[in-house]
Amino acid sequence: MTSDPRQALREIVTDVRAYLEAQQAMGLEHAAVKWPEAPPPARPLSLAEVREELGECTRCKLHRHRTQIVFGVGNPKASLVFVGEAPGADEDAQGEPFVGRAGQLLTKIIQAMGMQREDVYICNIIKCRPPNNRTPETEEILACQPFLVKQLQAIRPKFICALGGPAAQTLLRTKEPISRLRGKFYDFHGIPLLPTYHPAFLLRNPYEKKTVWEDMKLLLREMQRAGPQALAPGESGS
Ligand code: URA
Repeated sequence: MTSDPRQALREIVTDVRAYLEAQQAMGLEHAAVKWPEAPPPARPLSLAEVREELGECTRCKLHRHRTQIVFGVGNPKASLVFVGEAPGADEDAQGEPFVGRAGQLLTKIIQAMGMQREDVYICNIIKCRPPNNRTPETEEILACQPFLVKQLQAIRPKFICALGGPAAQTLLRTKEPISRLRGKFYDFHGIPLLPTYHPAFLLRNPYEKKTVWEDMKLLLREMQRAGPQALAPGESGS
């Protein structure tokens, strides 16, 4: 047997031709050719499986500085997912997203919308704290992105709210500033996505709270229009 793949293929074709010619000489008129079955579409992983696949991740340099991975928290069947930027010091210490000052404001926003934190799912575009809370770098976002996508595929929310520029720009693959993106719905693989300002930005610019509240009212109206299941949180448990 040759080690040259082209020669190996030539030999296979020659053998098949010789076989078919022999069959034809014996009276064969038709040969039914069956194409290989298409592989079944891949089943989306559960959140627990995505977490397992992520493991003790060392795919980017952020693993060197983190205390722990901050994967995500909330209802695995949530109708609404909030996606933020990156864990900060409190999140890195507690292993849960949005638990610091910005997180407390997000909790208040969720409650003002008539829901609880446990009703929605909360995660970030990256899962490890960047040193000194700097903005995540492209390489770090790209390393984490497959896991964010798999989390969203596992939850299959009816709506996504992107908190702040980095989250909105990553999910929508754009460089448009958040001031231009916010307040409008975009399509994220068939899921309506609404960008709004990040709660940390609201802590520095409290006069923009009313803008975010307008965005949240728009989100609630769309959720109401989508029907009762979009507003009712899915049952917990994956
Ligand atoms: N800011 C974020 O974007 N995410 C968190 O988890 C906390 C603060």
